[in-house]
Amino acid sequence: MDNDYLIKKMEKYADEKGIPIMEKDGINFLSEFVKLNKIKNILEIGCAIGYSAINMALVSEDITVTTIERDKDRYIEAVKNIKNAKLDHRITLVLADALDFNTDEKFDLIFIDAAKSQYLKFFNKFSNNLTQKGYIITDNIKFHGLAFSDKTKLSRNLRQLIGKLENYIDFLNNNKEFKTRFFDVGDGIAISRRRLDNNETNNSKDK
Ligand code: SAM
Repeated sequence: MDNDYLIKKMEKYADEKGIPIMEKDGINFLSEFVKLNKIKNILEIGCAIGYSAINMALVSEDITVTTIERDKDRYIEAVKNIKNAKLDHRITLVLADALDFNTDEKFDLIFIDAAKSQYLKFFNKFSNNLTQKGYIITDNIKFHGLAFSDKTKLSRNLRQLIGKLENYIDFLNNNKEFKTRFFDVGDGIAISRRRLDNNETNNSKDK
């Protein structure tokens, strides 16, 4: 199957089934980032049906992706899509809760796109699997503009979830080891990287 056709088919499927996949400008930004930074080895947390994993793997033939999904139906759909894209030799799919998944492998990009309530746990757990100069990218950091907004009219569950996301943003902003830049793309993207030295602030220029 032609990959452009497959990608359009996945977008339609996700739309019809209400499966959250990256927004178009978000996936374009991510693919461009992978290309510009010559990323080769990616860990993705939150595969859904394989849309972002396939898009990232298509950037270059020497890219490998390990992607984790806990929902069995989505996992099965992702296996099918990855096979149709002829990328099963470069994309490894793991059916598991990411917090139960352990590996000694090092990645030059860790892409966090799973349960927002667990962002902090994902970051802390998987930063051990990041190469020294690698990046951690977090998607949906704006949560449709709800982060740091007036929450009085929202349900208790939603308020709690947004509270956790705000804690995560504070954690990134105040992190001594990692420097983070926020991008107003898609639903908001954060890119974190280890500080080159202790004097580097969150406002200083990258590289
Ligand atoms: N990255 C995908 C894309 O753009 O094509 C979209 C991922 S979707 C936003 C988030 C997915 O993460 C859901 O399919 C959900 O089942 C999965 N998920 C949430 N929490 C998880 C966890 N703790 N471990 C593994 N998967 C998780």
